[in-house]
Amino acid sequence: MAAAARLLELRPGRDMTAVVIDGKTVSQKIRAECRGRVKGLQETHGVTPCLAVILIGDSHASQVYVRNKMRAAEDVGLLSRPFIFDRDVPVAIVLDLIDRLNQDPDVHGILVQLPLPPQFNIYTVLHRISPAKDVDGFHLYNVGGLVVGDTIFSPCTPFGVMKLLEHQGIEIAGQNVVVVGASNIVGKPMALMMMQQDATVTICHARTRDLAQFTILADILIVAAGVPGLILKQMVRRGAVVIDVGINRLPSGKIVGDVDFEGVSEKASFITPVPGGVGPMTVSMLIWNTITSAERHMTMHPV
Ligand code: NAD
Repeated sequence: MAAAARLLELRPGRDMTAVVIDGKTVSQKIRAECRGRVKGLQETHGVTPCLAVILIGDSHASQVYVRNKMRAAEDVGLLSRPFIFDRDVPVAIVLDLIDRLNQDPDVHGILVQLPLPPQFNIYTVLHRISPAKDVDGFHLYNVGGLVVGDTIFSPCTPFGVMKLLEHQGIEIAGQNVVVVGASNIVGKPMALMMMQQDATVTICHARTRDLAQFTILADILIVAAGVPGLILKQMVRRGAVVIDVGINRLPSGKIVGDVDFEGVSEKASFITPVPGGVGPMTVSMLIWNTITSAERHMTMHPV
């Protein structure tokens, strides 16, 4: 349902049931679009986009993330090249690999799975990746590009949120957007991307006093704090669009977001579920960025 039509349904003082934004379906549409772009590159330039993935250490969670990213990439027709190191690998070996991948014309995206073992300075590693292959969007060049609205690659999770809103037809310009969470990978880039689309943006974080006084003003509320149950119904404006980026595992094993989904659904116009909302978008945007990188490369270095 289009956002404008949805807002017309709102009546002051009456509860409603939010439309649940289905991230899986949007993600599938994006992957279908990605398949078409890969085919186009193959037919026009004889090139298949390639994602190099560097995994250091034996964290089970990181192994699962890397496997999922590579599977998803291959599923849309990308090539993926894994580079797996023991947790005590010398820093110089990894930096040398990144240098070689930066120079390799057959590699279009380089991803270093985080977190890294203690001998690594994360910024030394991330800033070693060429900004033109930095498909995670973490290099300072791409972060700076977000500030002036001219980045090569946007970080995948906030980029996924933008795509979800776009697919749902939700207007951003002129809206009050409140972002809860100010991390470098989600909250801050999210706020910058919203500013770029002419939203009025407020950023809240763990030291914000009286969070509710800000969240209640949001037309679009984006929550990425990593705190289950942080956002309750009474903190949300009637008819707000609520995007829950949080992923939290409860002691019971259940995965939940940061928003009280049941309660807030009675007041919001749109809401994302956890799981099945923002989560599926993140990997899709990584694939999207890798294809964009290959397309840029072919424009700049046609064969
Ligand atoms: P982070 O820990 O780096 O940052 C959390 C931010 O939230 C900080 O700015 C902190 O100040 C703020 N915060 C913490 N408690 C708060 C509170 N009580 N009130 C207001 N602000 C508070 O986390 P992150 O990497 O940005 O991730 C945030 C959440 O999003 C996590 O649950 C993470 O698992 C999830 N995440 C999801 C995806 C996805 O693909 N859906 C991707 C990345 C992160």
